[in-house]
Amino acid sequence: MNESIEERIDRLHGGGIVDMHFDLPMDLYEKRDRKDVLETEFLPELEDGNIGVLGVAIYIEDRYLPDTGLRVALDQIARLYAETEQNRRFAICRSYREIQEAHETGRIALLITMEGVEPLGTDLNQLRVFYELGVRSIGLTHARSNAAGHGGAFAASGSSPESLTSFGRDVVRKCERLGVIIDLAHINPAGFDEVLSITTKPPIVSHTNVRRYYDIERNISDEQIKMIGERSGVIGVNSILVSPSEEESTMDRYVDHVEHVANLIGIDGVGIGFDFFEFIYCQWPESRQKELVAKFTAPHFIPDLRNHSHARNLTRRLIERGFSDEQIEKILRGNWMRIFKAVF
Ligand SMILES: [Zn+2]
Repeated sequence: MNESIEERIDRLHGGGIVDMHFDLPMDLYEKRDRKDVLETEFLPELEDGNIGVLGVAIYIEDRYLPDTGLRVALDQIARLYAETEQNRRFAICRSYREIQEAHETGRIALLITMEGVEPLGTDLNQLRVFYELGVRSIGLTHARSNAAGHGGAFAASGSSPESLTSFGRDVVRKCERLGVIIDLAHINPAGFDEVLSITTKPPIVSHTNVRRYYDIERNISDEQIKMIGERSGVIGVNSILVSPSEEESTMDRYVDHVEHVANLIGIDGVGIGFDFFEFIYCQWPESRQKELVAKFTAPHFIPDLRNHSHARNLTRRLIERGFSDEQIEKILRGNWMRIFKAVF
């Protein structure tokens, strides 16, 4: 076979890559006075990287809480619908079948997710409303505590020892009944254990890194990775917390995270959750960037994995590191698709 490496990447990308975490809705919301933001600011990079499915996260910044969390969440979803109505290259998808149809008609599937249930307040009935609007994956918390539970600390210890609240448990149970994926990214260790103890479907961690290379409770330990593996779940590897050191935040270290998960639970347990965040970070004034660093940690963006157009660089490195076609296909797409099929 005389296939070049670029041809091989084209072939491996043919089915479209699934990235389960992207902060698109908050950016569309901040740019709500502009038109065609998806088309002009995002589509070129998504096309260059052959992105086929994108988990787009509703997230409410501190400054909107508590008073306007629900309003801003609705506005973020409204922006997604308004932008996709005008652009036939995107489709908001609510089921595995719709994701397949999007691929067959050459569209990028947007899967609406929620990072932190603040928009629900303490009203379980709102969960049904967001389900009807298309939300198909929910993580109970971001870093802060809320009505459902507590986020993992951006430190090696110090997370709340408390698990979920009774509201949090209700949200989890209702998600399982409705067919909404439960996402364990960000939850504190006690909450992680409790979610697994009250659910039966395969769990996911949409965007995280392994504590072996970046030891903070926001990331996941070997024991937690094995718990996900035992339940046939999938872990999406994050690109912005691969190392506490800037110099070690490299493509090879990203692949080390992929390899570590695969070594512990097999290739079926690893996927992509890039969490590309540089575009938002760079739009912020310096004061706000400093605030984020003080509150969490300094994000270290991987030079050749900073946005969706760089997805080919990852595939190239996976090939160079000896992953087979079958393994790469699972990492880039197949494993997430299996979860979608199982849940919705
Ligand atoms: Zn996150």
